[in-house]
Amino acid sequence: MNPENTSLEITKATSSAIGEVDFDNLTFGKYYADHMMVCDYKDGKWQTPKIMPYGPMEMQPSAKVFHYGQAVFEGMKAFKDDDGKVWLFRPEQNFERINKSSKRMAIPEFPKEYFFEALKTLLKFDSKWIKSGDGNSLYIRPFVIATEAGVSASPSNAYRFMIICCPAKAYYSSPVKVTIAQEYSRSADGGVGYAKAAGNYGAQFYPTNLAKEKGYQQVIWTDANSHEYLEEAGTMNVFFRINDKLITAPISDRILDGITRKSIIALAEKEGVEVEVRRIKVAEILEAAKNNELKEMFGAGTAATVAQISGFEFDGTYHELPQVENPYSVHFKKALQDIQYNRAEDPFGWRYAVDI
Ligand SMILES: *Cc1c(COP(=O)(O)O)cnc(C)c1O
Repeated sequence: MNPENTSLEITKATSSAIGEVDFDNLTFGKYYADHMMVCDYKDGKWQTPKIMPYGPMEMQPSAKVFHYGQAVFEGMKAFKDDDGKVWLFRPEQNFERINKSSKRMAIPEFPKEYFFEALKTLLKFDSKWIKSGDGNSLYIRPFVIATEAGVSASPSNAYRFMIICCPAKAYYSSPVKVTIAQEYSRSADGGVGYAKAAGNYGAQFYPTNLAKEKGYQQVIWTDANSHEYLEEAGTMNVFFRINDKLITAPISDRILDGITRKSIIALAEKEGVEVEVRRIKVAEILEAAKNNELKEMFGAGTAATVAQISGFEFDGTYHELPQVENPYSVHFKKALQDIQYNRAEDPFGWRYAVDI
């Protein structure tokens, strides 16, 4: 990259950690690509973004992020096709969403040129960290934290926008058992559920641990008011298949506008699968399960793409879902991955080429 053509300040890593990584036996999140992006906000504006070697950083213990959780993040992936070309999937959506999340957390919005220029430069520098082959990807984690020192409870005047990347392998997880929330909630009306606010995840860990103690890997979140309506599955959006119809809850201030969710809706509609985006009651899936009409449940999110659910617990009773032929979960996961890995037509223009 010609430094004259960029608004970034670049310090290249002098060595690479890639030799330490066993790409066939990856522990997700253990190894990070050699470069990261750091951009500070001070004096009312975002400063020049820096690309620098990945590594620890110093912060004041009084930095506001530690005290008030003023922090948001994103999760996206870069894919390498069999010809070695690198692709992102709908990255403008992640960019728009991190600013939407930031706005809700009183964090200043980040400039689009900085985001894309940094992202492209990181992927160029660390392209060898992206392995081709089904399921392999480079997970990209943009995030923003409040860095101003001072424990007064007010929005920070200083922030740091960062992007770090780590290699990820296919998530060959077996279908999960879930429990439907009847006590705890993930989000509430007027709250921050639609934002990728760091604290949303923190607040989910304890109820999820309780579910795990009972043998369920995830919690299906219901609306906080009545616990009657199904909203999300863990940190994913959730789909229900009743007979051949797909149903998912509409996005709202409690439900995150997932990119995987809306991509599956678009693919399903294009294929002529009936999709209903509407509120769905626990009672409705209980009734459908009783009548053998509930065929599938699955989560949708960037990390797993699609996570099959094998059954759910509600009110102390476990309902096992049937084994169906050609499940939608498998079909739509493959359809999405075929687009992501440049193995299929891209009728919606979702792929974003990255020059490396
Ligand atoms: C990130 C996230 C999702 C999934 O969004 P994708 O854009 O598909 O990765 C769903 N629900 C919650 C609560 C999330 O934080």
